[in-house]
Amino acid sequence: MSISENIQKINDEILDIKTKNGLKNEVKLMAVSKFHPAQDVLDAIKAGSLLFGENRVQEAIQKFPQILEENPNVCLHMIGQLQTNKVRHAVQIASCIQSVDRIELLYEIEKQASKLNKSIQVLFEYHTAEDSKSGFENKEEVIKALDLCANNTFPHIIPNGFMTMAPFCNDEKLIRKSFTTLRNLKDELQSDYKMFNLSELSMGMSGDYKIAVEEGSTLVRIGTAIFGERNYNK
Ligand SMILES: *Cc1c(COP(=O)(O)O)cnc(C)c1O
Repeated sequence: MSISENIQKINDEILDIKTKNGLKNEVKLMAVSKFHPAQDVLDAIKAGSLLFGENRVQEAIQKFPQILEENPNVCLHMIGQLQTNKVRHAVQIASCIQSVDRIELLYEIEKQASKLNKSIQVLFEYHTAEDSKSGFENKEEVIKALDLCANNTFPHIIPNGFMTMAPFCNDEKLIRKSFTTLRNLKDELQSDYKMFNLSELSMGMSGDYKIAVEEGSTLVRIGTAIFGERNYNK
């Protein structure tokens, strides 16, 4: 199947799940283009994709500047673990950093965004799966981060919600638990921090997005099911 057929099929499935479950929220389909060439991104844009995700800053700054210049409606989010020394380039190219997993990173994002006089959205990545290493490990740290945001420590940063990775396994219960943990965190913190819109729930990948949408995902991050298998040897 072509990239455009894959996108169509996934959008149809998302709509179907929303209808079946009476879900009214928007579910954005992010095309995760890591390890795929710029031409694949252009094909996805032709098929209507406006939202892309990349893991590695190095790869993103090679692939995306021209695409973003020529397609002003297209947004790029960084979704991979971000080293502090890569923040400058990440802030230049992305409209959102979904993988904020430590407070130190917020200070660096603010520093770089203020230099560019650019506002940037962030999601707090939360650790919900035993086998994953990424994300804030506990709620108290996320609260600390939100308190700093609320005190206007980071005037160029717009907190926008939460992101997680479910465990890589076939156990539907475990996967679902990961997503409900994130949704519960969002519900609780949204009611405590009404000055922010924390409604984004970035959860669900090729293997588990149907469960994620059932559990309230507002943004699914899909690579393989759109672009095919990644070739890591390239
Ligand atoms: C690679 C990646 C995805 C997409 O994974 P697929 O299984 O190919 O859909 C989603 N989220 C993150 C954080 C990723 O690194």
